[in-house]
Amino acid sequence: MVASIKPHRDELGLGDGRMLIDGQWTEGAGGTWSHRHPATGEQVASFPVAGPADVDSAVRAARRAFDEGPWPRARASERIKALRKVADLVREHADELLRLQALDNSVPLSFGEIYVMSANFVADVFDHHAGWVDKIAGETLPPYQGGDHMVLTLREPVGVVGAVIPWNAPLSLFAQKVAPALAAGCTVVLKPSEYATFAVLRLAELIAGVVPDGVLNVITGPGDPAGQALISHPMVDKLSFTGSRAVGQKVMTAAAAGCKRVSLELGGKSPAVVFQDADVGTAAAVTMGTVTLGLSGQVCAAQTRALVQRDAVEEFLATAEMIGTMVSYGNPFDPEVTSAPLINTRQLDRVLGLIVRGQEEGARLVCGGSRAEGDLAAGNFVAPTLFADVSNDMSIAREEIFGPVLSVIPFDEENEAIALANDTDYGLAATVWTQDVKRAMRLTRAIKAGTVGVNGYQLEPNSPFGGYRQSGMGREGGRAAVEAYTELKTVLLPFTDEMM
Ligand code: NAD
Repeated sequence: MVASIKPHRDELGLGDGRMLIDGQWTEGAGGTWSHRHPATGEQVASFPVAGPADVDSAVRAARRAFDEGPWPRARASERIKALRKVADLVREHADELLRLQALDNSVPLSFGEIYVMSANFVADVFDHHAGWVDKIAGETLPPYQGGDHMVLTLREPVGVVGAVIPWNAPLSLFAQKVAPALAAGCTVVLKPSEYATFAVLRLAELIAGVVPDGVLNVITGPGDPAGQALISHPMVDKLSFTGSRAVGQKVMTAAAAGCKRVSLELGGKSPAVVFQDADVGTAAAVTMGTVTLGLSGQVCAAQTRALVQRDAVEEFLATAEMIGTMVSYGNPFDPEVTSAPLINTRQLDRVLGLIVRGQEEGARLVCGGSRAEGDLAAGNFVAPTLFADVSNDMSIAREEIFGPVLSVIPFDEENEAIALANDTDYGLAATVWTQDVKRAMRLTRAIKAGTVGVNGYQLEPNSPFGGYRQSGMGREGGRAAVEAYTELKTVLLPFTDEMM
């Protein structure tokens, strides 16, 4: 049996979560959501569900703070100071935040050492965006047809942002939306996932002590009704969503109805392309590791299709299988535990169903393939699963599984590898493993994905991240992220009286 998670909750002194609206902590009118911990199935805590009136209050608070409040009008130095203060607070409260995240989604504390899941990453995202505040600038353009006038452009904050995030990396994804929005001078209403609320509420509490009331509001509860009410609210100017393709489509529909600006970070079915001249052992260890360690493959950028040159397949499979045996499941607060359970029983059933489908469609199961039993039976654990002899038209090669399942697809020639890499609806990420620099460059140009790593994949707060095709639109991180929270205004400025 995995030990009860409850003592950790008490140790943290976390009361039942409440929503942040206009600087006040309020109860919701939509009832209560009880959170079941994915490692034990026990109810660890509850929080309110926002009803339509709560969502309306939160959006109106953000609207007032944008239309009348000091935040969008603040000097750059004030916003920089505020965002840097948030970064400092995150570093100060790193341990507490990561423990709350483990209470949410069971990401093991040991995985908090990995940069993109660390509190340092979250803090660095705020620091990075603090650096943009005084660089959000327009241009001076020459008159096209001559004449005594100038054309100026200004970048203004887009307004009230409705942000919705998933459960898998709540702290990092919160930061990737809230930091650029605040840097640009926007105000925000954010809805975390109903499966990962506690760490977000605490981070919001830290930020609420730094920014004026109404600048950041957090409403809680499931996608429908809380999220749906937010994305359809007429006073929201911009929607920023991270989550599944299916919900992303709903967000786009809501954006279309209100002609709202929209950014989408969606799912993926990303390839790791491994040539036989690469360090195949490292490629296999990293690829299987990112699919089974930490979030157990519940990662948007996970490279779950290993395209491996035929002569390297056996070596790749042997190392990947060995990595699978190194996974350790259990209580996320145990430093020996390496990997998380699946977030809920719906996801557990889906992953197990796809594993069965993989076998039915002719893939060879090398290891794993079933739910973990014994002491782990109460949690949503699936054994690290490796498939060989996969063809790219099988369900396990086409659908985003979001679990610890790696499919190995052999290829012979470079062009075949490129065609396979691009034979997907998605386009979020890829890694190319080779010692040949020219080949690496050819592949990085040819693969249709938002981020392509060469012999490794490490995201940074300043690297633009986002998808091609059905993996979304827009980028987080870097200039593009901040500009996505701005409007571009053109000012036509005459020099002479005759032109007035
Ligand atoms: P999900 O789409 O089910 O939920 C995401 C969020 O949307 C949650 O807060 C949920 O409550 C909300 N939601 C659900 N229905 C809604 C509705 N009708 N209106 C408004 N909001 C609604 O995704 P998930 O299961 O939480 O997360 C997994 C998915 O997220 C995967 O597809 C993964 O690839 C994707 N993801 C993408 C990135 C990225 O940066 N590209 C990062 C992490 C996760």
